[in-house]
Amino acid sequence: MEWMIAVSFGEIFLKGKNRHVFYKAAINNIKRNLRGIDYQGMYSESSKLYIQADRKDFEKIKDNVLKVFGISYVAYVIKTNKNIEDIYAACKEDLSEYFSDKNYTFKVESKRTDKSFKYKSPELSAKIGGFILRDFPNLSVDVHNPNFRVFIDVKDNVYIYSKRFKGLGGLPIGSSGHGLLLLSGGIDSPVAGFMVAKRGMKLDCIHFHSYPFTSKRALQKAVDLAEIMSSYTGKMKIYSVNLADIYKAINQNCDRRETTILSRRFMMRIANKIAETNSYQALITGESLGQVASQTIESVSVINDSSEIPILRPLIAMDKKDIIDISHKMGSYEKSIEPYDDCCSIFAPDNPVTKPKLKYIKMSEEKLDIEALETDAINNMEIIEIAWQSDNSKVIYMSRPLS
Ligand code: ATP
Ligand code: MG
Repeated sequence: MEWMIAVSFGEIFLKGKNRHVFYKAAINNIKRNLRGIDYQGMYSESSKLYIQADRKDFEKIKDNVLKVFGISYVAYVIKTNKNIEDIYAACKEDLSEYFSDKNYTFKVESKRTDKSFKYKSPELSAKIGGFILRDFPNLSVDVHNPNFRVFIDVKDNVYIYSKRFKGLGGLPIGSSGHGLLLLSGGIDSPVAGFMVAKRGMKLDCIHFHSYPFTSKRALQKAVDLAEIMSSYTGKMKIYSVNLADIYKAINQNCDRRETTILSRRFMMRIANKIAETNSYQALITGESLGQVASQTIESVSVINDSSEIPILRPLIAMDKKDIIDISHKMGSYEKSIEPYDDCCSIFAPDNPVTKPKLKYIKMSEEKLDIEALETDAINNMEIIEIAWQSDNSKVIYMSRPLS
């Protein structure tokens, strides 16, 4: 009898021919999240991954594995031999906490991958269920809504478990290309990043600040948010771009009411240039229709015009409350609500245009030396990298500090 951790994959197994690519990506992500944690080894046996480790490390391993996308659940299992006595002994060991004087209900669910095993699944469930009822008078069967389920997987080995922890679902990072997230310091953009990452997209971030009009803390906040995301997505780059001169140029030359839309188009064009040199396939934003003045359908379409590559907006049809729920779940909410000086709010006009027309926005842009402003911003960009050391502690490299 040996305790171990089993990992069950979700949608990956619907992916037919590409299954091994997804599986490999998931295993790599699991190994990455287990860096610095002691475990003896891992192997797969008919579609599940088994991790061998000391029980004292189970919780830590489970918590780290559960941050990997593409997993439907993690379970604490007992591996045992393929005979009815050993199977029942393992069940008793696994269920010891339920064998009290409380009146629990249970159900046994067996799955026989090894068809040569002499009991068919329903027979095995009935037999083990019978033993449990015989030995523990406080337990009774409820097949519809039991207090706990005993799972028996009969493969080359037999695995018994009753404790399952739900995973995040989705697809493993690296299976859906590479995107660049426009990361501000708010609630929405980290959630947008989390959602596309959950569908398997590898992510890096671009953050726009307006130092010295905004504080260094504003940039630090974006880095902190990226670090929270990186525990799901792996190592991450943050391109930090100063928009101060661009805001100044807009303020001096254009109608102030167009500041937000004009700056958004600058952000998109700069992000496109970085995407082109670094092979990002899409931009991701946290825009949600109607949430604020700059997120009308008219603004969305004028913003789209400034990007060559697709802009993914996973939150477009979501209510704020549902976005906040995800933000709590991924662990970014508390950081997101810390106060910070957003460049957009410092330069934001009191009465922004909410229904911009592309024709007029382009006329305003003619008053600006767009090419020079953008080249300058990109040349002065800093790159911050979040990576891991071999003991699983994170390090943050900054190419050049703000000065
Ligand atoms: P968030 O909660 O992500 O800040 P928001 O609801 O405040 O979003 P806006 O400020 O209108 O909405 O920004 C919409 C989107 O534009 C953001 O979700 C983000 O993707 C992008 N964005 C806005 N400001 C910045 C910035 N300073 N740096 C990078 N991206 C930004
Ligand atoms: Mg914002």
